[in-house]
Amino acid sequence: MNALFSEPDEHLTTAFDALRSALAAHGPLPAERRAEALEDLARMVIRHGTDLAEAISRDFGHRSADETRLAELFPVVTAARHARRHLRAWMRPERRPIGMMFRPGRGRVHYQALGLVGIISPWNYPVQLTLLPLVGAIAAGNRVMIKPSELTPETSSLLASLLGELFRPDEVAVVQGGPEVARAFSRLKFDHLFFTGSTAVGREVMKAAAERLVPVTLELGGKTPAIVGPDYPLAKAAERIAVGKLFNAGQTCIAPDFVLVHASQEAAFADAFAAAALRLYPTFEGNPDYSAIISERHRERLLGIVEDARRLGGRVRSLDAETGPGGRTLAPVILTGLPDEAAALRDEIFGPILPIVPYRSLEDAYAYINARPGPLALYLFSDDRQTVAQTLERTVSGGVTVNDTLLHCVQEELPFGGVGDSGMGAYHGEAGFRTFSHAKAVFHQSRFNGSALTRPPYGRRVERLLKWVLR
Ligand code: NAD
Repeated sequence: MNALFSEPDEHLTTAFDALRSALAAHGPLPAERRAEALEDLARMVIRHGTDLAEAISRDFGHRSADETRLAELFPVVTAARHARRHLRAWMRPERRPIGMMFRPGRGRVHYQALGLVGIISPWNYPVQLTLLPLVGAIAAGNRVMIKPSELTPETSSLLASLLGELFRPDEVAVVQGGPEVARAFSRLKFDHLFFTGSTAVGREVMKAAAERLVPVTLELGGKTPAIVGPDYPLAKAAERIAVGKLFNAGQTCIAPDFVLVHASQEAAFADAFAAAALRLYPTFEGNPDYSAIISERHRERLLGIVEDARRLGGRVRSLDAETGPGGRTLAPVILTGLPDEAAALRDEIFGPILPIVPYRSLEDAYAYINARPGPLALYLFSDDRQTVAQTLERTVSGGVTVNDTLLHCVQEELPFGGVGDSGMGAYHGEAGFRTFSHAKAVFHQSRFNGSALTRPPYGRRVERLLKWVLR
């Protein structure tokens, strides 16, 4: 297990076959094993927290250790323990009411492990986005094969070896490699494939899975809007948006991608955002709290978005002098006055660049959002109950946080997932358990029942019965 494979198909198949054979021989993981594995996983993350933070930081060039603790270690430990605590209740078959004609038969839903689950994860939160789906899959009793990101090789190797200590290779296997391995991975006949990554690759994954009718959960990206209501204190909104935008230097799937602000407040909001960002991070280069961009290529891409804005006549306000080529830090950049065709308004930004889009009325803001693909998250800042209710009703997004950013994602009792181009399906907490379970309908016929009344030869008896039912 856990080697960096050069011949994807052969090695993937070996790991896959071991998991399949174990599933055939021993079935899903029993409840005791799930509970034990979840607690072990939580302890492993705590014990190796520093190792994981250091590995991620090496992969990023620099990643704030506190950000890693807050956004990778804490969510995984909480989720694993929450799942362990609720496991028995989630697993319990649910009684369902039975139609009068079929009584006294009994109806239940049994939640059964799907079997063998594949998980493909991205680089931006390499621990959280690998281990949170694993928590759901293990809680539901599945065996799991994981393909972490090739862009975080140190973290992926460490995860492979740590998981190798916790699980037998016929319970959980980790395979590493780039897009070739990932492509081969997505062609395997899993019972469920859970993918987190970009919308473009998600489309490829779904195509590959469709070939073998493998059901998918897709946790994708997109452009998450933040709407600042005209009634809300600007400085407060700006600070909370800055926190959500600059965490992990904007490399967060639910970071506010752009901000919709009333046209009369556009300049004031830009000032408030700049002031808030500089309070949070008095410096950027060399600040241990401020994370680097994952690779030079990604930094170049972000600088390209800024350059494109400049070329199209937008106003560019960088909060620090740009570092030269080769640097991995990128100070926040505020963009205003952009035409619709600007890359900053078309593509997911995934970095510390914030375009501000003015609106004249909230109706305009809704129209702007609804004319674009369904976002993964939406942030609304308003204390007006009607504005909140109306915004929830008029916009579609995977999730919403009102009067803050990011926080709906760390609520164990809330499902997390996208809609439209930002994905399908959900996980976290019980939603994760259900995603990785088959809800099996079980009807249990009672010894005494009326089903003989509807058997052939049909005649007056059935006719009378149907006349009564269809009256
Ligand atoms: P990516 O799509 O480039 O890669 C994700 C994973 O897919 C990697 O492990 C990669 O090896 C694999 N992969 C690459 N090509 C593949 C193929 N043809 N078939 C199957 N797998 C393939 O994404 P990324 O750059 O690692 O991550 C950033 C993107 O992920 C952003 O768009 C972000 O919004 C999104 N994201 C979404 C969530 C969410 O929860 N919805 C969370 C984090 C990131």
